[in-house]
Amino acid sequence: TDINGGKLPNFMSPVIPGWFSEISSMWPGEAHSLKVEKILFQGKSDYQNVMVFQSSSYGKVLVLDGVIQLTERDECAYQEMITHLPLCSIPNPKKVLVIGGGDGGVLREVARHSLVEKIDICEIDKMVVDVSKQFFPEVAVGFDDPRVALHIGDGVAFLRDVPTGTYDAIIVDSSDPIGPAQELFEKPFFELVAKALRPGGVVSTQAESIWLHMHIIEGIVDNCRQIFKGSVEYAWTSVPTYPSGVIGFMLCSTEGPPVDFKHPLNSIDANDSNQKSVRPLKFYNSEIHEAAFCLPSFARRVIDSK
Ligand code: SAM
Repeated sequence: TDINGGKLPNFMSPVIPGWFSEISSMWPGEAHSLKVEKILFQGKSDYQNVMVFQSSSYGKVLVLDGVIQLTERDECAYQEMITHLPLCSIPNPKKVLVIGGGDGGVLREVARHSLVEKIDICEIDKMVVDVSKQFFPEVAVGFDDPRVALHIGDGVAFLRDVPTGTYDAIIVDSSDPIGPAQELFEKPFFELVAKALRPGGVVSTQAESIWLHMHIIEGIVDNCRQIFKGSVEYAWTSVPTYPSGVIGFMLCSTEGPPVDFKHPLNSIDANDSNQKSVRPLKFYNSEIHEAAFCLPSFARRVIDSK
């Protein structure tokens, strides 16, 4: 039972009562644990188990199928980097698509870019949107922006209907390649993304951990190099509550005006006065943008060899 005497969900740690341990076949032999103050929501949608709990040290936590998606304390790192690495690398993105991202955090970050005119989001699970609006208002605030259009459905099916060259930027804010997000890591999906982008358009995808998933990253880089004829780069950052404490991003552009992802050309730094955002940036700045592309040798060797 949990500390409130409630029944522990099946993926709660049986070992240390009152703690959530992120046990998964995607990171065998290790598990990050967070102390649980109170379970706030548990549900099962058509796609996944959804849970929210109040942790003692990271605020509220969103968990999908036993995998931590975000915490109030460190979601800023992931949401800001996956959004501003691509959007600060092209002069004036106007039409942006988010695949996944049902918590609304990436939308909050896209909304900082005042020149953006239209933001589409395709999230497969309405329960994630509803739960995020209820328990993570500072994250779900992204849905309030008038430029946002929410589509509930599978990102692959959505992209199939998108006319060629529609978007300046696509952000694939997906969960891991098990469950509903599996096809968001496969070649046909990347081909649909490339088709939906204008020449010189950019895509940024969640690309796992160099400490845990080099084999997955190899496959993603291989596919991207075959499909995206502009730039193909891998970046990474620190997110304490993700497995191994880091997360990576694939940054690619279609053929057309070359995109130099490593040197942001429109800054949106924390002290940027013309931001009409809901809160100052907590993590992203131009220096950490450039640093994100500096990789350890073991990762650089694999990524450059593809
Ligand atoms: N933004 C979060 C963070 O800060 O790390 C994590 C990612 S977000 C919660 C991942 C979303 O992708 C989930 O809401 C999940 O339902 C959605 N998703 C998974 N597969 C999908 C698919 N095929 N099409 C659209 N959305 C999908």
